Amino acid sequence: MIIMKFGGSSLANAERMRHVRAIIEQHLHERPVVVLSAIGKTTDNLITAAHQALEGIVDTSAIEQLHTDIARELGLDDREWQGLVQELNTLLMGISLVKELSPRTLDHLLAFGERLSVRVFSAFLNQQGTHAKPFDGWEAGIITSSNHNRAEVLPESYQAISKALGGLDIGVTPIVTGFIGKDSSGAITTLGRGGSDLTAAVLGAALTAREIQVWKDVHGIMTTDPRLVTAPHPVPQMTFQEAEELAYFGAKVLHPCSIQPAMRKNIPVRVKNSYAPEHPGTVITAEPLERDNPVVAITCKRGQVMVHLTSTRMLGQYGFLARVFQLFADLRISVDVIATSEVSISMTLDKHQGVSALESQLADIANVHIVSGRSIVSLVGGNSRSALVLEHSLNALSREGIEVQMISHGASQLNTSLVVDDADAQRSVRLLHEQFFSRSLS
Ligand code: ADP
Ligand code: ASP
Ligand code: MG
Repeated sequence: MIIMKFGGSSLANAERMRHVRAIIEQHLHERPVVVLSAIGKTTDNLITAAHQALEGIVDTSAIEQLHTDIARELGLDDREWQGLVQELNTLLMGISLVKELSPRTLDHLLAFGERLSVRVFSAFLNQQGTHAKPFDGWEAGIITSSNHNRAEVLPESYQAISKALGGLDIGVTPIVTGFIGKDSSGAITTLGRGGSDLTAAVLGAALTAREIQVWKDVHGIMTTDPRLVTAPHPVPQMTFQEAEELAYFGAKVLHPCSIQPAMRKNIPVRVKNSYAPEHPGTVITAEPLERDNPVVAITCKRGQVMVHLTSTRMLGQYGFLARVFQLFADLRISVDVIATSEVSISMTLDKHQGVSALESQLADIANVHIVSGRSIVSLVGGNSRSALVLEHSLNALSREGIEVQMISHGASQLNTSLVVDDADAQRSVRLLHEQFFSRSLS
């Protein structure tokens, strides 16, 4: 059994759906469980529709048009999902009347994207003679916390998934919605943007798949974001830890939580290009490969806030750091990069977290200075030559006059992170990419 997950760009139109069908057909003998995202930009369009509804405008034309065009071009009967389209309109009408969009309502709304896509694609497979059955996430056993918009998949899902999908007839291919589930009260939840990768990994782990295939529009995981650098190279192999670090530090190619379930069960994750299925892509496994280059890939996380704390009370004090981090824990704020000295601590946080509450509470225990508009540029690679990475990185940036404001290096043996101004982020990634992937390191 394998998992085959296809994202929105792999399913953008009727022609792409035909390609995806051809890819799945080639793997039917491996009994795939297929996981789909919403078609094209449907999730973005649903978010736009929700905000329009708040302004009193109910408009689903872009979403309806896309699905109707695909159905017409593939010769499918779209009456099968008209009920869902009606429900979507009713919900938007409700939002426009009440002028309120809670995280719970937003999740209910966003789920329509994936719910539509599995119905359209299953209808297409069935029309082509492949027996397929659509499943909403909760029908496939995905049970989550009630943390709307960023729900966690609960451990009880694993048994529920094998019960729901494990006993299917051999000839039936399940087509499961990514990204969505239900909490224990039955409310629809979503797993955060890009959450279909996580669904794929959880299903793979629950069903002990031979492999979890994640099909994208790129030749696997690249040495950096192709939107930042013109010609990054595909990475043939990396470890679970490296992939997790990359995803956590901003590589938008995989959901940050999608590696854990695969790693726990030691199931290889293969990232492939649905536009070029013959390309080997990237395989993520437990074993590190021998590599000359100490860096596997470079990522960038923008919009970070730097918090500097100074206090002479820190000197020789027990429990000072504990108090600081208890405060972060109470406010549910996570810290990415930390540097400490005898009398100061500097750290970075994502700007979306509640920084103002933090500032006032920290002010009780230390002098606080907060600056925004920072980026973390991370060089990821499980290597034993991190001093070399640091030396080459700092040289490459200082030659071009880029100021590195903070360095974190060595703690995980997987990541050297440099904090720079947002304005310098893209140039830093380009310079570092050139340094590590276009020159010889000595
Ligand atoms: P899907 O919708 O199929 O899940 P995503 O758009 O979420 O696909 O992820 C693929 C995109 O991630 C690529 O098109 C690319 O622009 C972006 N990306 C960012 N960093 C990387 C990277 N290091 N390697 C590959 N793709 C990356
Ligand atoms: N459709 C969701 C999104 O756009 C989930 C996903 O694509 O993985 O974020
Ligand atoms: Mg994605």
